[in-house]
Amino acid sequence: MTLSSRRQFLRQTSLGAAVLCVRHTRVIRAARQVFEDRAQQGAGSDAASMRKFASRISGHVIRPEMSDYDSSRLVFNRAFDRHPAVIVQCAVPSDVARALDFAQAKNLQVAVRGGGHSRLGYGMCDGGVVIDLSALKRVEVDSNRRVARAQAGALVRNLDEATQRFGLATTSGGCPTVGIAGLTLGGGEGRLMEKYGAACDNLLSAQVVTVDGRQIQASAKSNPDLFWAIRGGGGNFGVVTALEYQLHPVREVLSGALMYPAGRIPEMLQAFTRFLAGAPDEMDAFAQLLPSEPGRRLKIDVCYCGDLRMGNDLVRPLRGLKPQDDSVKVMSYLEAQGTGGFLQAPVAHFQTNLFLRELSGSAIAGITTAVDDAPATCKVIIVPLRGAVSRVNVSDTAFALRQRGYEVDIAGVWSTPAEKAEVVRWVEATRDSLQTFAHGVYVNQLGDTSEELVKLAYGPNYARLVEIKKKYDPNNILRLNQNIPAA
Ligand SMILES: Cc1cc2nc3c(=O)[nH]c(=O)nc-3n(C[C@H](O)[C@H](O)[C@H](O)COP(=O)(O)OP(=O)(O)OC[C@H]3O[C@@H](n4cnc5c(N)ncnc54)[C@H](O)[C@@H]3O)c2cc1C
Repeated sequence: MTLSSRRQFLRQTSLGAAVLCVRHTRVIRAARQVFEDRAQQGAGSDAASMRKFASRISGHVIRPEMSDYDSSRLVFNRAFDRHPAVIVQCAVPSDVARALDFAQAKNLQVAVRGGGHSRLGYGMCDGGVVIDLSALKRVEVDSNRRVARAQAGALVRNLDEATQRFGLATTSGGCPTVGIAGLTLGGGEGRLMEKYGAACDNLLSAQVVTVDGRQIQASAKSNPDLFWAIRGGGGNFGVVTALEYQLHPVREVLSGALMYPAGRIPEMLQAFTRFLAGAPDEMDAFAQLLPSEPGRRLKIDVCYCGDLRMGNDLVRPLRGLKPQDDSVKVMSYLEAQGTGGFLQAPVAHFQTNLFLRELSGSAIAGITTAVDDAPATCKVIIVPLRGAVSRVNVSDTAFALRQRGYEVDIAGVWSTPAEKAEVVRWVEATRDSLQTFAHGVYVNQLGDTSEELVKLAYGPNYARLVEIKKKYDPNNILRLNQNIPAA
């Protein structure tokens, strides 16, 4: 190529390139415009459909741009920081039905929030619709029938306070701010469970909104399959808006804690199992191993709801073991409920559990070694399951922990990433070291999840739960939970 032809070629090609470039830019601009128009139309239609949806809700609809968004998306376990597209604070059951319908129409994930105490932060989701029941806290008591009707956003404290006004109570959790719906749907262990069974054993009926928007009752007579499933099967089958409980006379109790020194864990845990073997159903007791308390490592909490004249005699074996502190005294049931909690305030944590049929010498040795090596922010909680809760047939409700035994909860809290890594490592290592003694898990206290864990939690009841899921939520709309898929 000559110099002039090369120049001409370059001029042409650069001209061609420039032309091409301009055309290309125009094409890109045009495409971008189409995209932006469509996005705007989409956002516009999204915004319009959101406005239309919000206008049909009796409660409060909270969007990310609103000032109460951040406070409304907080859950108790601060390890979870989720950002939903919309939080629907429901005021009436039809709000729940509309929120379910909207989520399905927009193909958005659904989270259901009661008291917000899920170990896995299941009450909140990223990018989806939160059905928030926390504004529904009313509890009505019919003292003649000894029945309480609670809205599904009521907390343990609301239920206890309302029923105690009449000298009545039912099994609820040991932490006043846990939601009674989440607690009961997963089983519900509490200080009266040895005498009166788990929270789910005291459930008489529930109002449920199904994923197709029907408002139905679940009870022994009405939709008995659903009633069976929601007594332990969690939030897998529908959104509960109200629960009716059987109540029992409970006034003053003998309650408080005994603290024992470090270095005596094996001896003390053996004494604890002997104490339980002779204790009546009215006696509830659980043990906590506390690495954070130098020199005072073991705490036994008791709550006796029987004849108070006999209470001190029953606690004598524990007092004979020379506690360093002893706060056990007669108090109102309400006061007892306010003192025994595992975590007092919202905090980032990891808690999981195993169910052991017995506290054998080897299991006690494993627990002792783990506690000796534990970070100061960790602990082991041993919750005996005995009495009425363990006398129900395993197939009578979905909740399947129906044998005498011990739920061993392994927990730790953190405030920095370094602490988190140490806590998670210790909790997992402790759980793994006790695995050979385990025969189950409690869904409500699982800080992790898998198909295997959910099957382990429900044991022989799992297959029936899958069948009921197929009937009430075949497309697994309610899947942000310890999930039982329909397939
Ligand atoms: C500090 C603390 C103490 C605890 N103490 C106890 C205890 O003493 N005994 C015990 O048994 N458990 C205890 N738990 C575990 C507790 O029972 C579960 O975490 C339970 O799921 C919490 O319910 P929630 O409504 O507060 O939580 P949320 O996070 O609001 O709900 C948890 C899940 O339950 C389901 N759910 C809740 N409400 C509804 C509804 N109305 N309809 C359908 N599904 C629903 C949903 O799947 C939801 O994601 C404790 C937990 C914490 C954090």
